[in-house]
Amino acid sequence: MYIIQIASECAPAAKVGGLGDVVPGLSRELAIRGNAVELILPKYDCMRYDQIWDLQMVYDHLMVPFHDQSVHCSVFFGFVDGLKCFFIEPHSHHNFFNRGIYYGHNDDSERFAFFNRAALEFMLKSGKHPDIIHCHDWQTGLVPVLLYEMYQNLGMTRPRVCYTLHNLGHQGLTGGHILRQVGLNPGPLMNRDKLEDDRRQGAANLMKGGCVYANFITTVSPRYAWEIQNGNGGNGLQHTLHVHGGKFGGVLNGIDYNVWNPEIDPFIAGCYTIDTLDDKYKNKEALRNRFLLRHDYKPIIAVVTRLDPQKGVDLIKHAIHYALATGCQFVLLGSSPDHAINNDFLHLKHQLNDNPDCHLEISYSEELAHLIYAGSDMILIPSAFEPCGLTQMIAMKYGTVPIVREVGGLADTVFDADYAHKPYHERNGYVFRDFNNQGLESALHRAIGLWYAYPAYFREIMENGMRYDFSWCRPGQHYLDIYDYIKR
Ligand code: ADP
Repeated sequence: MYIIQIASECAPAAKVGGLGDVVPGLSRELAIRGNAVELILPKYDCMRYDQIWDLQMVYDHLMVPFHDQSVHCSVFFGFVDGLKCFFIEPHSHHNFFNRGIYYGHNDDSERFAFFNRAALEFMLKSGKHPDIIHCHDWQTGLVPVLLYEMYQNLGMTRPRVCYTLHNLGHQGLTGGHILRQVGLNPGPLMNRDKLEDDRRQGAANLMKGGCVYANFITTVSPRYAWEIQNGNGGNGLQHTLHVHGGKFGGVLNGIDYNVWNPEIDPFIAGCYTIDTLDDKYKNKEALRNRFLLRHDYKPIIAVVTRLDPQKGVDLIKHAIHYALATGCQFVLLGSSPDHAINNDFLHLKHQLNDNPDCHLEISYSEELAHLIYAGSDMILIPSAFEPCGLTQMIAMKYGTVPIVREVGGLADTVFDADYAHKPYHERNGYVFRDFNNQGLESALHRAIGLWYAYPAYFREIMENGMRYDFSWCRPGQHYLDIYDYIKR
């Protein structure tokens, strides 16, 4: 099959969060299975160009209709970790992708709406007729709308669209004028059955458009699929997901074991497997040296996250104090585009500066993340909601025990050491339900208690997690089944 992924992120060249991992992880799995896979991405100025091999311009005169004019674009081609990627670079006063950051501008809807039109225009002009277009999150919600309202009439009759929802916290709400800018007629589209937002009359919801027009909608875990159809998690999209329930399902994300694997990880101090687990502790030592933590008989609890309210930032702060008061060390790697949240954590870092058991690293560092997963004993993920969550699956591969709130993909992957309805050898972490300090402490207390009192049992929980297969193998097949289904 010929599959084109259209996305706003692709690690390690352009990554903000899990979306950046999922796009290349799934793509590589599909390619390994013999499919032809290409990716189309924006050409951001802030990408890691050192992670793109052999980047060169392949198409210089792509004229993309926008507003009442055309925007001249160049298209580049390069390999990201062996994947074939096209990067679209517009040349206009809008300066869409030369902003120094990926997201967070007032005109984000306009930037990515343009990207959607440009991606389809590029496919049309370069004669690309894939079997499947797979697009992701609100940033590409207009792709199926444009395909079926415009490009099909221009001859693109072959592709079917799979649309994956990674996070309903961001849906791309914008004015109807954006539709006109990309050449769509807002009149017939701005109603409740199509793109008009269910909660805000007159607002266009780009993610809703993607859901309505795609041939199949997936989200990133079965539990989140249920939550967004039935609970508050839908953020206004529940009705749409019910109406289109016949073409909707949850597929648990995988992680890429070529990238996240302690056996071959180039960023850690000592490689190890489940059979050489003692070597994990070389990384604990290296982590302590790196952060000037004291060498003592204590567990290290880690957090690696975007510092977003979704991730339970207040619970994370509480956990830091709780862990330090109960004989643990604490390491955090996190950052936020929100200055208030960043400053809050910088203030806390300042307060804890002299504490030899704590280090807060307020930044984004792919390399450091690897050492933290390898060097810690436990990882904490107290999310308010979590579509899938990759950090718990990565941590388990590194023998680091997850302590998580029972939501979304966390509930699908972490099974409580004491209470899970699972055989003992399938229990791989600690789970709490209530989104408050008591809930958090109930799980932390049990995990820390086991680490101190029954280290052999704690090690079994580590090993149980390491034995799970969270690779892309199963979800890769699941996506191929979906592609086959919509091709018929
Ligand atoms: P989300 O997509 O909501 O950010 P996920 O758990 O799905 O959450 O994916 C997070 C990904 O981003 C993981 O690969 C994690 O290691 C990475 N990550 C998050 N914050 C940081 C950071 N500050 N530095 C390095 N990597 C980070």
